[in-house]
Amino acid sequence: MNPADTFLAHLSSTVSTMESVETTATTPAPATATANDSAPRPAPGVPAWVKRFLHVLIEPRSYLNALYLLTAFPLGLAYFIVLIGGAITGALVAGIIIGLLFLLAVLVAAWGFALFERELTIHLLGMDVPPLSLPNAELVSPWRMLVRHLRQSTTWRSMGYLIVKLPFGIFATSVTFVLLVPPIVGIMYPLLNLLGNGPFPESIGLLIVPGIPAVLGLAVALHGLNLIGRIWGRFAADMLGVSDEQRQIWEARLKAEAADRSRRELIMNVSHELRTPIASIQAHVDSLLLPEADRPDAEETERRLRVTAAETRRLSDLIEDLLMLARADSNELKVANRPIRLAPIVEQVVLALAPLARQERQVTVTLEKIPDALWAHGDSDRLAQVLTNLVRNAINYTPEGGVVSIRVTGGTDRVQIAVSDTGLGISADDLEHVFERFYRADTSRTRDTGGFGLGLSIAREFVEAMGGSLSATSQPGLGSTFWISLRRAEPA
Ligand code: ADP
Repeated sequence: MNPADTFLAHLSSTVSTMESVETTATTPAPATATANDSAPRPAPGVPAWVKRFLHVLIEPRSYLNALYLLTAFPLGLAYFIVLIGGAITGALVAGIIIGLLFLLAVLVAAWGFALFERELTIHLLGMDVPPLSLPNAELVSPWRMLVRHLRQSTTWRSMGYLIVKLPFGIFATSVTFVLLVPPIVGIMYPLLNLLGNGPFPESIGLLIVPGIPAVLGLAVALHGLNLIGRIWGRFAADMLGVSDEQRQIWEARLKAEAADRSRRELIMNVSHELRTPIASIQAHVDSLLLPEADRPDAEETERRLRVTAAETRRLSDLIEDLLMLARADSNELKVANRPIRLAPIVEQVVLALAPLARQERQVTVTLEKIPDALWAHGDSDRLAQVLTNLVRNAINYTPEGGVVSIRVTGGTDRVQIAVSDTGLGISADDLEHVFERFYRADTSRTRDTGGFGLGLSIAREFVEAMGGSLSATSQPGLGSTFWISLRRAEPA
């Protein structure tokens, strides 16, 4: 390999590493990478590194990068003048108040410049920059805001960055000029000559020399500028974004706040749900404890006792459900996942529920034949519990004469169990929430069914613990379908 080849090979390997980094850092980059991947194989005789080397000429990112470097000096100078000029004036100006106002204006300007620079780094250099500050929901006084602003490290890091941008700008803008002007002149001169004089042999000769070396020179220049842009972009991302550590602390705080909120909501919901059955039990029991003369007759007494028994059962179901959710929250949900054959589990559930559905609500439950070889990863008891819940809901929310159908299908790596009904359906607004705890789509209607709005949230916890997902689609007025999707397993 001659020295020129070695140099070009080195350059092309630099670019290929840069491309792979860009793929993870920016959104437009993957498209470039995919285009690269799907590009036709190089024609025999054109080595891949030559293609890679020349590819820089048609990459928009190269020119955005050059634009960033070209504007680095004027921007750096503007920041320097405003920040240093403002700070010196603020320090020298007579009168403490006016001086402080000047310094405050410098702070505001610095923050605005930093936000602008962050956008430039993202859009022109294609870097992934974390936010400059973390959102804060609290409403605080302007003084507290100022103190917080002065205490956060990005304030000072970004200010340092803005000052360093001037020396970098002097370097970057002049290097960009020096590298780009000769090849651009070398390309434009033969082209203008060709346009002006027509296709004479001299004009065509100019296209070859200096035309071709100028194009190669432009490619080398763009590679070099990309490298400078990349290194500076990394530095900018570090200086203009919050650190990973700060981000993690902030996320942990958000999580803790959400957990606290959901605990409070749970306590409120539980108290609310307990109130009605307990009031009913209390009223019925109190009426049976009245002086003998005021007590109801035997038939009424029995009716009241039955209501009391039913309410007590409902309460005990609620407590069971709550315990289940508490276990799910503390990751103690016991799910024994292993390969399970779906046919007997689904058939068993349908067998148990179909006769009651027909007798009590004139709802037909149908099941399509399930292939024997259909196995999934999961826990058979839990899956039966989830299915029972879905089929029971489907029966409950379907008017008399309706149909509930269950279908099990297998793909290459997933299996789906669909429970469809011809019921009233769920509106799009409600559909977003039906898997939330204590959510009931239509309270007036669903109160009669006796549910607390916990069934679907528990079902989803179970399915997710089995490594699957539970979702729903619905057409109001026509019916709903609930989908259990599980990982397919090989027959054991
Ligand atoms: P519940 O015990 O109240 O039925 P779920 O969590 O099982 O609680 O269901 C939540 C809500 O979703 C129900 O109150 C009902 O409004 C709605 N829902 C569930 N399944 C269906 C269905 N098949 N058709 C219509 N609405 C349904």
